[in-house]
Amino acid sequence: MSSNLRKPLIAGNWKMHLTLAESVALAKAVKEGSSGAPGEVAVFAPFTALSVVAEVLKGSPVKLGAQDLYWETHGAYTGEVSAGQIKDVGCQMTLIAHSERRKLFHETDEKVNKKLKAALTAGLIPVLCVGETLEEREAQRTFKVLQTQLEEGLKGFAPTDLAPVVIAYEPVWAIGTGKTATPDQAEEAHLFIRKTCARLYGEAWSSGLRILYGGSVTADNVDTLMAQPNVDGALVGGASLKKDAFLRIMHFKAPANAK
Ligand code: PEP
Repeated sequence: MSSNLRKPLIAGNWKMHLTLAESVALAKAVKEGSSGAPGEVAVFAPFTALSVVAEVLKGSPVKLGAQDLYWETHGAYTGEVSAGQIKDVGCQMTLIAHSERRKLFHETDEKVNKKLKAALTAGLIPVLCVGETLEEREAQRTFKVLQTQLEEGLKGFAPTDLAPVVIAYEPVWAIGTGKTATPDQAEEAHLFIRKTCARLYGEAWSSGLRILYGGSVTADNVDTLMAQPNVDGALVGGASLKKDAFLRIMHFKAPANAK
């Protein structure tokens, strides 16, 4: 987290958890607990809870996001939700291409690219997730996988279109497993992502690009991860559902040279 250009972002992904009452209670705790946090804070709530959480977060700096979207603006797409609808309910952000969506719902890079375009067109801040599986890491294919996900996912934009984009590096083997990437592994991947983005769309964009780490982030490991020069924040699953853990993660201890 070494650049003055990049405001840290701590984001919670609630996945398919929480009732409306639980969502409201957690959102209130996040809102109250975010005061004095060193960076930005966001929560990605289930579609069903977006309107009630938007009401809780109204007027607070905590951002609200959806966990997915569909690329068409409207029409006969039963079960899908458009970027415009997500904006309308009060979201500023959306996740795109979480590994669970890539794996369980067969989300290809082509679909990811369409979702990114839809999110940007609607004025949402997209958090594009990339990351390798354990087999890919063991086969020394991590960089190749990241490169393809970035090249295909980010295809066809002008660098200025991409200004709002956030990328989340989420090694699949670390998500929900309790196995966190070491700070060195995270830094190596983040640096590769930043260099690849510079090659694709130029330094001006990539040097300000926020790259979050996701994969079993906890109150105990957040500080060392955030101390890495290219780690600009965290995307937190399991620990974001536990109020005290998430509050501690939001208040990570910035390294001495931090912005
Ligand atoms: C996630 O869902 O994006 C995630 C990183 O989950 P966890 O923190 O539980 O590994």
